[in-house]
Amino acid sequence: MNVHDTERIAGLLLAAGYEAALEGSDPDLVVFNTCAVRENADNKLYGNLSFLAPRKKADPNFQIAVGGCMAQKDQDSIVKRAPYVDVVFGTHNIGSLPALLERARIEEASQVEIKETLEHFPSTLPARRHSAFSAWVSVSVGCNNTCTFCIVPALRGIEKDRPAADIMTEVKTLVDQGVVEITLLGQNVNAYGVDFGDRQAFAKLLRECGKVAGLERVRFMSPHPRDFTDDVIAAMAETENVMPHLHMPLQSGSDTVLQAMRRSYRRDRYMGIIEKVRAAMPDSTITTDIIVGFPGETDKDFQETMDVVTEAKFLAAYTFQYSRRPGTPAATMPDQIPDDVMKARYDALHILQQKMSHEVNQQVIGTQQEILVVDHEGRHDSERARMSGRTKDFRLIHFAIDPNNAPRPGDAVISKVTAASPNFVLAEELPISIRQTAGGNAQEARTKEAGPQPIMVGMPTLQKLKENMAK
Ligand code: SF4
Repeated sequence: MNVHDTERIAGLLLAAGYEAALEGSDPDLVVFNTCAVRENADNKLYGNLSFLAPRKKADPNFQIAVGGCMAQKDQDSIVKRAPYVDVVFGTHNIGSLPALLERARIEEASQVEIKETLEHFPSTLPARRHSAFSAWVSVSVGCNNTCTFCIVPALRGIEKDRPAADIMTEVKTLVDQGVVEITLLGQNVNAYGVDFGDRQAFAKLLRECGKVAGLERVRFMSPHPRDFTDDVIAAMAETENVMPHLHMPLQSGSDTVLQAMRRSYRRDRYMGIIEKVRAAMPDSTITTDIIVGFPGETDKDFQETMDVVTEAKFLAAYTFQYSRRPGTPAATMPDQIPDDVMKARYDALHILQQKMSHEVNQQVIGTQQEILVVDHEGRHDSERARMSGRTKDFRLIHFAIDPNNAPRPGDAVISKVTAASPNFVLAEELPISIRQTAGGNAQEARTKEAGPQPIMVGMPTLQKLKENMAK
């Protein structure tokens, strides 16, 4: 969600006449789009702001803006701690950023504008997308759940669903522009429809995406096990361009911890869903999120998580050490887990998941896989004559190419998997086939018309900025 918001911020600024600063150059404006999910984001923001303070002092025309969840959370305190910040804007008013920058310039004073509710659905804003072939499409923002570790509902508000017609218009427009892969995005995508009383709305949306010619791949994130219905599984299985990959957060394998987290499903329900998904789509993969060290988590609870990881055979698990967020119920719970225990559990889980990922990847050695070469992953390693992409079931794959007949970004390649590691699979022989997609053709036509287009939008990183300023 945060990455997509950054694309919107970039799109808005471009529409307002700004240009992306090239790597290595000194920008006139730095925008921080912050995340508040983990504790160290606070430290990082204030560290980076104080680093920019001398630059601001030397050049008052240089502007700094802070947006995102930390801005929503800290509001006025950001300008109290860093008075040289020009604009603080919240998650509900991204669209105001260009006007706030202008006002800060004219009034020569910091502007803090935080809205408590969403006025316009943010997807109606322009976006400067990082990829020409792969795009996020928001179906909802906010969340009606109250997971005790999570600060998102406090900052993003209650769930607001976007009308299906708007979503489909955006999907079709993107496909017309050459996008071949869409990820439907929401805090809890399969609760989509709660706003207008249609429990089957998300499954309908998947089926609608299935009718869009030229749309090769549809993915979604993240579903909540509580709201997962059989018709979503049926829609995934029946809709050819919906990919056989499910990313569904587990968070813990212990029912006691799930209850304390206020996650309203239990281990058996979670395992039941993935069993059904695999029955409907035998070639599907599952990925997940897991938090270790939630307050009160005992060795036995942790072992139950390890047991689920062994049994569920996730392709990958994004694992996190519990991060105490002030303002959430879990922050004041007794029995907070000491750092060393948390770290030891995290390491043990990581080792186990690496082993499982390796096993799951070994299962496809010898199979043919379709790879979509989207630009942010389609790096061309000319030394080794290799490119990278994703299989339908979301494995990262590095595949051999003939440099004289390399696929274009946006093309679909079929290659045979010859080796596996925990984090990727390899196809060391030349592709069996290369299929040109509508997206690849659209991009090629644009390139012919307008000259070479940057296929990777390189936003200057703060690191580069630091290096440049140090010079
Ligand atoms: S489902 Fe839970 S973890 Fe996810 S955004 Fe909502 S409150 Fe946070």
